[in-house]
Amino acid sequence: MKRTAPSALDSSPCSSLEMTELQSSGMSLRFQIEARDGTARAGRFFTPHGEVQTPVFMPIGTLATVKGVPQDTLEELGVQILLNNTYHLYLRPGVETVRRLGGVHKFMAWDHPILTDSGGFQVFSLSDLRKVTEVGVAFRSHLDGSSHFFSPESAIAAEIGLGADIIMAFDECTEHPAEYARTRDSMEMTLRWARRSKDHFEAHQEETPWFAERGEAQTLFGIVQGGAFADLRRESAQRTVEIDFPGYAIGGLSVGEPRPMTYEMMDAAIRFLPEDKPRYLMGVGTPEEIIHYVAAGVDMMDCVLPTRAARHGLLFTSEGRLTIKNARFAGDEGPLDPNCRCKVCARYSRAYLRHLYASNELLAQTLNTIHNLAHYIDTMRRVRQAIIVGGFAKFLSGVRPPHLSVP
Ligand SMILES: [Zn+2]
Repeated sequence: MKRTAPSALDSSPCSSLEMTELQSSGMSLRFQIEARDGTARAGRFFTPHGEVQTPVFMPIGTLATVKGVPQDTLEELGVQILLNNTYHLYLRPGVETVRRLGGVHKFMAWDHPILTDSGGFQVFSLSDLRKVTEVGVAFRSHLDGSSHFFSPESAIAAEIGLGADIIMAFDECTEHPAEYARTRDSMEMTLRWARRSKDHFEAHQEETPWFAERGEAQTLFGIVQGGAFADLRRESAQRTVEIDFPGYAIGGLSVGEPRPMTYEMMDAAIRFLPEDKPRYLMGVGTPEEIIHYVAAGVDMMDCVLPTRAARHGLLFTSEGRLTIKNARFAGDEGPLDPNCRCKVCARYSRAYLRHLYASNELLAQTLNTIHNLAHYIDTMRRVRQAIIVGGFAKFLSGVRPPHLSVP
């Protein structure tokens, strides 16, 4: 599998202004679409820990921290919702520890929305350390080699114990490449696991650490799989929708397939997901790509790229990417990005940022991460605004599409 080891993971131009308020069936999550521009939508959803304006980019906080950035800075940046990784928190500090401390919001002092993955992606990344059966997945910890087991029931129990606002069904993330028959079998198992995830969640949702205090439950999203086959993507979407979730994710992408294929598989699935529920594309993408995914109707995205790239000195700017360690910045008094309004660009020079990075100073990681997150969040803010004022098609025309770019 071409996938990063878990130890390295952090984990048509028509515009209308309409207000449709849609109550999701059964489970809580109110999703409101405010504006459409072609297939792109701007909206908002409401969680027990606050509102999220969409389209939204969710930074990765693997171990209940966005590496190197304090929570107050995330608030200043306008981060609306964070992603935490269940696999990592399950191993350390442990679900029971977090549950006893009131859940992950209190634990990490973040009184805003949080989403957890189910642990499926990370467990499936442990290709040499896992064994998959219909019941679930036996795996060994990447930390100490100890034996563990995740089933749809135990993964959902872990997510309930951690207490994020939005939690994900336990799925099998099919490897790439995979044969058609193997991909179909995997998709069928993910559908059975989706049903089991939902059953367990419905029986235990009131066990969330803050349920009594907030009087609201978490929200469980289903996940579409289907590998690199458009017909399986479509079938997976249709049958996941039949199970009925308040939101849907498209998973199993960005696992080593070429970029145009990522776009094609997203496109094959998204047209079969309901209009009135949030759509979450997992694990993408570059600043240019996320704009095109919004154009296709995606509402939520997460990616390690801005934070991980920042720690390796790769910075996204309005003028393209730059590698801060480059010697040409050694005497550069200018800001990282003259068009960025983040506090790093307001205060520090490229020369200083290069010095910090070259000297392996801790502050380099913090400042680089703040800027990259600001770039992503500002991009989404501008995209949202463009959809609302009906100018998204023009906005999009200046951005290179991922399905036409060189893989
Ligand atoms: Zn900046």
